[in-house]
Amino acid sequence: MMRFQDLLFKTTGILFLALGIWACSDQDRGPYDTHSESAIKAYVGATIITGTDRPPIENGLLIVREDTIVGVDSRSVLDIPTDAEIVDMSGKYIMPGIINPHGHVGMADGLKTGSEVFTRENVKSQLRLYAKYGVTTVVSLGDGDFSGAGYRDSFNDREPRDLARYFLAGPVINASTPDEGRERVREHHQAGMNWIKIRIDSGLGTREKMVPEVYNAIADEAQKLGLPTAAHIVELEDAIGAAKAGFNVIAHSIRDLPVSNELLTLMRDNNIALTPTLTRELSTYVYRERPPFFDDPFFTKYADTEVMNDLLSHEMQQQFAESESGQYFEAQLPLAKENLMRTFESGVRIAMGTDSGPPARFQGYFEHLEMEMMQNAGMQPMAIIRSATSEAAFGAGISGLTGALQTGLKADFLVLSENPAEDIRNTKTIEHVFIDGVEIER
Ligand SMILES: [Zn+2]
Repeated sequence: MMRFQDLLFKTTGILFLALGIWACSDQDRGPYDTHSESAIKAYVGATIITGTDRPPIENGLLIVREDTIVGVDSRSVLDIPTDAEIVDMSGKYIMPGIINPHGHVGMADGLKTGSEVFTRENVKSQLRLYAKYGVTTVVSLGDGDFSGAGYRDSFNDREPRDLARYFLAGPVINASTPDEGRERVREHHQAGMNWIKIRIDSGLGTREKMVPEVYNAIADEAQKLGLPTAAHIVELEDAIGAAKAGFNVIAHSIRDLPVSNELLTLMRDNNIALTPTLTRELSTYVYRERPPFFDDPFFTKYADTEVMNDLLSHEMQQQFAESESGQYFEAQLPLAKENLMRTFESGVRIAMGTDSGPPARFQGYFEHLEMEMMQNAGMQPMAIIRSATSEAAFGAGISGLTGALQTGLKADFLVLSENPAEDIRNTKTIEHVFIDGVEIER
C-alpha cells in the first residue's frame, strides 16, 4: 500500500488554493457602494486579536477595502488612509469570525430529520443563524444530497451578505469494497462537493465498521482529485487507521482509550487536524433535565422556543434518560477532554468543531459552548480563539481565504464588548458581525 504522507502537504496546498480561487471566482458582486459611502473603512481604537500567534494589538487599526483586509496593526505603526471612512471602535475587541469546520447544515428542521428537510430555505435560514452567532464559515460534513452544491454557489456571494460561508461534503460515503469507495468519491467530485466524509464506527457495536482497505482507497482517490477528507471515529484504533490512510481531519475526540504517541506523531507529522466536538457528547445526555444553557439569554435570543419546549417534555427527558449512547458518551467525556489536552499539548492542530446541526445541537450557540468546554478542559482563551479561527480555517481547508485578521484575507470579523482573551465566554458579547466587510443584521 502506498504512503500518503508525502502527498499530503502538496495536495492540501493545492486544495487551499483551489478553494480560494473557487470562492472568489463568482463575480457579479454588484457595486460595493450600495453598502457604504467609502470603499475603504478604518476600524480604529479596538484591541485586535488576530487569530494567529500574535499577541493582542492594543489601540489597533483594521483597514478593510471592500471585502478584503488591507492592513492590521497598532495605530502607532499604521496610518489611516486619507480616503478611509473612520469607524471608532475604542474600548471594543475585534477578533476573526468563528469558523466551524464540522457542522451540518439542512440536516434537521427543529427535531425533524430526513431528506425532506434538506431544502434551500432551511439551509439558508441555518446559515443565517450561524452568522448571527458570529460563526462566519461552516463546513457541513455530511448532507442530505448533492443539491447543496447549488445552494452553496448561490449563497456564498449573495448580496446583501447575511449568511455564513458554506462548504459541504454531501452524503457521508459508505462503501463495502475499495472500488465502490473510489466510485463514490468520483461522484462527489463530479457533483462539486468540497469534502469527503466517512464513518469508521461500529455504532457502539450495532454495525460493521468500514475496513481499512476500503477507507484507504477512499482517501487515495480523494487525494488524487484534490478533495480533503474527514473521518468520523470513536475509537483510537480507527483514528490511527484514518491517520495512516492520510485523512485530513479526525472528526470527534478519541473516546475509548487515552491517545497514544503513535497517533499524535502521525497527526503532527502529517498536519492532520482534530475537531473535538465536545458539545456533541453533551447533547446526548444534557436533555435528561433542563439544560443550564436554556437560561442563557445569548441562547434564548435566537432559540426556537417550540424546540426548547419539546426537549423539556417528560417523554423526551425520559428518552434521553434511557439512551445507552447517552450513558456511554457522558461516561467517556472526561477522557475525551483529557485526550483533547494531550493532543493539543503535543502540538497537533486542534480545529474547534462542534457537530452542530443534527436535532438538539444548536447551531451558532454550540460553537460558543464548545469553546467554553475547551476552556474547562484546560485550554487558554488565546489558544481557543486560534483554534476557532485560523486553525479552524486550516481544518476547513480555507486558510488562504479567511480565519485570521491578516492582509489579503476576507474581512470576516466580530466586534465584542468584553475581552475574549481573558475569558472565552466573552465571545458571547457580540455587538457586530462582519462577513466580507459587510455588517450583517442581527
Ligand atoms: Zn458530524
